[in-house]
Amino acid sequence: MRLVGHNKQWEFLKRCIKNDRVAHAYLFYGPLNIGKRTVAMEFIKLLNCHHSDTESCGKCQSCHGFESGVHPNLFILKPEPPEGKEDDAAGNLAVRIDKITELKSGLSLSTSDSGYKAAIIDGAEAMTYDAQGALLKILEEPRGKAVIILIAEQANQLLPTIVSRCQLIRFDLLQPKHIEESLIKNKVPVKLAEEVSWLSFGRPGLAMEYYRNPETAERQKRRIMEIVKLSKAPLSSRFRYAEALSKDTREMHCALDVWLSYFRELLLEGLGKEKNNFMPAKGNYSKTKIRSIIGLIEKIGFVIKTTNTNPRLALEVLLMKI
Ligand SMILES: [Zn+2]
Repeated sequence: MRLVGHNKQWEFLKRCIKNDRVAHAYLFYGPLNIGKRTVAMEFIKLLNCHHSDTESCGKCQSCHGFESGVHPNLFILKPEPPEGKEDDAAGNLAVRIDKITELKSGLSLSTSDSGYKAAIIDGAEAMTYDAQGALLKILEEPRGKAVIILIAEQANQLLPTIVSRCQLIRFDLLQPKHIEESLIKNKVPVKLAEEVSWLSFGRPGLAMEYYRNPETAERQKRRIMEIVKLSKAPLSSRFRYAEALSKDTREMHCALDVWLSYFRELLLEGLGKEKNNFMPAKGNYSKTKIRSIIGLIEKIGFVIKTTNTNPRLALEVLLMKI
């Protein structure tokens, strides 16, 4: 799928190219799965396209190279398990210093290509402290035509010294309506486009995933139904649920994320937004109550991610309040 939404950000980046004011480093930050990486790739392609400076042509040698992901001037880093533990799916994913060192030599090698060298560090907040230190050195000595794009959920999860050397570009959730329209343009049947857009709560990457893989859409629906059911269930069931969910870290984060989106949607409806046909019937919540639940989910999500808090206890606190 081509770019969806983020017009303001895209226009800004195009102006950087047109006015020859491309920064050495950018930090794209905002929620997961909203298309930050797609924008980064488009930007890099356009920067190097031989034919155009408004939309990449998709036909020249450079565009082909970047699209296939194997261009000699392209470096993509993402969190990976430690060397030798590649099979350990739950392992400690990080961007480690050896990758940053490789990047440094890659960026300083001279190649026959006269275009920009470009690096994307996806999941930049997963850089280890050492890796961030090494990256800072690269940012402190920018060289020639090279651009580094960091992609993260939040800017404050990186060293402030790194952030201050990047041009910050914030990305927001999209309107489900926009995702829906783009899916329909891409020949997705209307009904299905409506449903997966709604389920994605503003994240085109997820909507696409739900469309391609209906099983993931079902799982997402269950997460939403689950929170509705739990809000009416006795405490003992809520605690059992908290215990089970706390054992699956990945699912726990997905669930918290969905619940947050669900309650935000409820709040918007309370403030007069048209009710979406797919929203399950809500409990009897006042706006104040919904606001306090949203605050609690945000707080618990943050605490679970950043501290050693016992996730089961944190989930219990939350499930008692809904
Ligand atoms: Zn091109």
